[in-house]
Amino acid sequence: MAPVPTVNTPSPDTAPAVPASSVAPTPGVPETDPRTPHVVVVGGGPGGYEAALVARRLGARVTVVERHGLGGAAVLTDVVPSKTLIATAEWFTTAEQGPELGVRGEAPAGERRDLVDLEAVNARVLALADAQSRDIHSRLEREGVEIVVGEGRLDGPSRVVVGTGSGTTELDADTVLLAVGATPRTLPTAVPDGERILTWTQLYGLKEMPEKLIVVGSGVTGAEFAGAYQALGSQVVLVSSRDRVLPGEDMDAAELLEGVFRARGMTVMSRSRAASAVRTADGVAVTLVDGRVVEGSHVLIAVGGVPSTAGIGLEEAGVRLSASGHVEVDRVSRTSVPGVYAAGDCTGVLPLASVAAMQGRIAMSHALGDAVAPLKPGRVAANIFTAPEIATVGLSESTLRERGYRYVTTTLPLARNPRAKMLGMRDGFVKLFAHPDAGVVLGGVVVAPRASELIFPITLAVAHRLTVDDVADSFTVYPSLSGSVAEAARVLHGQSGEDLAG
Ligand SMILES: Cc1cc2nc3c(=O)[nH]c(=O)nc-3n(C[C@H](O)[C@H](O)[C@H](O)COP(=O)(O)OP(=O)(O)OC[C@H]3O[C@@H](n4cnc5c(N)ncnc54)[C@H](O)[C@@H]3O)c2cc1C
Repeated sequence: MAPVPTVNTPSPDTAPAVPASSVAPTPGVPETDPRTPHVVVVGGGPGGYEAALVARRLGARVTVVERHGLGGAAVLTDVVPSKTLIATAEWFTTAEQGPELGVRGEAPAGERRDLVDLEAVNARVLALADAQSRDIHSRLEREGVEIVVGEGRLDGPSRVVVGTGSGTTELDADTVLLAVGATPRTLPTAVPDGERILTWTQLYGLKEMPEKLIVVGSGVTGAEFAGAYQALGSQVVLVSSRDRVLPGEDMDAAELLEGVFRARGMTVMSRSRAASAVRTADGVAVTLVDGRVVEGSHVLIAVGGVPSTAGIGLEEAGVRLSASGHVEVDRVSRTSVPGVYAAGDCTGVLPLASVAAMQGRIAMSHALGDAVAPLKPGRVAANIFTAPEIATVGLSESTLRERGYRYVTTTLPLARNPRAKMLGMRDGFVKLFAHPDAGVVLGGVVVAPRASELIFPITLAVAHRLTVDDVADSFTVYPSLSGSVAEAARVLHGQSGEDLAG
């Protein structure tokens, strides 16, 4: 039998927990003193701005170089806008439950599109993103971070040159953090025009709801937008090159979501790879590699991101990049060059804002001599904002299998939960993985409305190596969806568990 996993234990390639930093600030030395270390952060997304705040707190002089707006793609084009749009779509998903719960007046799917004022929705999305970006800008300024607007590039390992439009600024740095993020990948045969052929950053310029939206790519981004526009009343065709949507995610969750998509009237084309997209007289035509043609009013290309690492002097400075162009980092965010760190989507570790921020914080703690715990990817919680949502934490079932770990698991359908019954929820489940002898919770999956909130007790269990008994012995509110988390833990203890939560 394979060895028992030791979860959340740093692997041997992990750097020491507390480094002997050569650039640690001297206590009591003012910021203007030449002995104060200068940290230059390139990129003002979550990887960059969170790091800047930590570096200031640790006493460094900090400059953030950002070419667009503070908050990065996370705030301006990706996380904040997409989740704000999805908040509008959720109104319709919730309203679907209306007739069953005794409410008259559900908007039939075919008429929904007319009820959505997309200009107002998009204006709200962009205003919210802009306000958050300005908030971050002010916060950094308040904390004494210098912000330089422009395009940064490395000139050797300890200098950043910024093209500011009116000239260049040179910044000498004791420590550089690269947090340049990624941009949407496009296909040369499907060139976005911002009107009909779109990347996700261009969706918020639409004035009217797409009549028929073709979404190319069934990863997290494709699935989230396909679900949202379907809920808002567009006819949606999801073109997936794989056997099922959400490849790489928990298989049961992905299958459930695909079933829900189809039941809501979405066309999901599996094993169908898009070759090109062109404009037609009144819409778009997407040609698949097998020659089939799908016509629609708009197409969204959601086939992943490309790290923004080209042409900014990284390789010339000795920073090692992977074949995909990502900056290679260890678990304390060090690159191959001493003094140069990297965080976020440009590293390709896990494309999540929360991970970018954590990598940035870790980098600064390491560089400036504070206590630091290396990144533990096995503890990351993530969520897919579809309806229902899919939240995961800890080791996935495929990882447990691939690594040959021993584990026990149980899956409780949401339909058995009394609160879910009252709310008219059917689609979803809670799944837990635990060590068969020690009972330590290794990971979990929650598929439910607001799974992003329900995953937290499992996150705590994984982070603190709690056992299924610890979880099962904790009170949950009756009736509540979280009752299913405790119930799953009870099942794993071996009890039959027919109690209030069941
Ligand atoms: C549609 C969508 C939805 C998402 N939803 C979620 C979600 O719900 N939750 C979640 O955790 N993650 C989500 N993500 C992922 C998340 O957006 C990224 O993981 C996160 O933005 C990464 O942060 P970052 O700091 O690495 O990069 P970014 O946020 O991309 O910021 C990088 C910044 O660097 C700047 N920059 C780049 N090059 C230079 C240069 N040479 N000089 C100066 N500035 C430069 C850019 O202008 C940008 O502002 C989503 C992604 C997408 C595409």
